[in-house]
Amino acid sequence: MIKFFDPHIHMYSRTTDDYEMMARAGIKVIVQPSFWLGSPRTTTGTFEDYWEHMITFETERASGFGIEQFVCISVNPKESTVRPLAFQALEAMSKYLDRERVVAIGEIGYNLINDAEEELFVRQLEISSKKKMLAMIHLPHMNKAEGIRRTENVIKTHNFGSRYTDNILVDHNTEETIEKTLDLGFWAGLTVYPHTKLSPSRAIKIIQKHGIDRIMVNSAADWGISDPLSVPLVAKEMRKKGFSAEKIEAVTFQNAYDFFRRSPKFTWRP
Ligand SMILES: [Zn+2]
Repeated sequence: MIKFFDPHIHMYSRTTDDYEMMARAGIKVIVQPSFWLGSPRTTTGTFEDYWEHMITFETERASGFGIEQFVCISVNPKESTVRPLAFQALEAMSKYLDRERVVAIGEIGYNLINDAEEELFVRQLEISSKKKMLAMIHLPHMNKAEGIRRTENVIKTHNFGSRYTDNILVDHNTEETIEKTLDLGFWAGLTVYPHTKLSPSRAIKIIQKHGIDRIMVNSAADWGISDPLSVPLVAKEMRKKGFSAEKIEAVTFQNAYDFFRRSPKFTWRP
């Protein structure tokens, strides 16, 4: 039976029709990381309502279509420089981390790449390391090489423990960053978008060159022009190119499953 896992999708900004199409295309499990609201937040309460909404309402909305949804909680890089709000949100975040369905801290990392973002990034890495939680790191959309270099630096200068990279998924890789991400021992996400980010054929070329180990495809569908069916689309294109069923399954289901099942709260089994 065809089954897909989309390990990065912002259903908060998608419609119920999307869920219907996703279910029809064979998507069985999704992970929804914390994102921004599309416009600036003004109070901590909007973070709390958003996290609560994802944990409860969004899980139910997905399950109405036979899709299992899990959540990553964070103060997103896009929202991490507003002071003192970002620190107040970080404080408020603690009571959501132990909730059902919360399988990781994320997404965290750099957006514009500056010290204020780094401060929140490091604080959230520290929390995930202390709580032995998984983390999802976002690579910036501009200046990716600098983004992974600074990510490496942060991981190396703060002592998070030697096996820590096993618990980290670095997302939005391209040809520029994939080698470094894998060399550092992280899991690697490839985001496939209709126009920007990676096309299916670029993602497939990366897979051809770097193999299937630890690599997973996602849609990162959000407020912008994006495609919640990116994962099945890549599978279809890989099939046309003659990839084996196991290789296709590795990057569209199994690797994401192997990463997230490291969380004791990822209770779903195929
Ligand atoms: Zn995202």
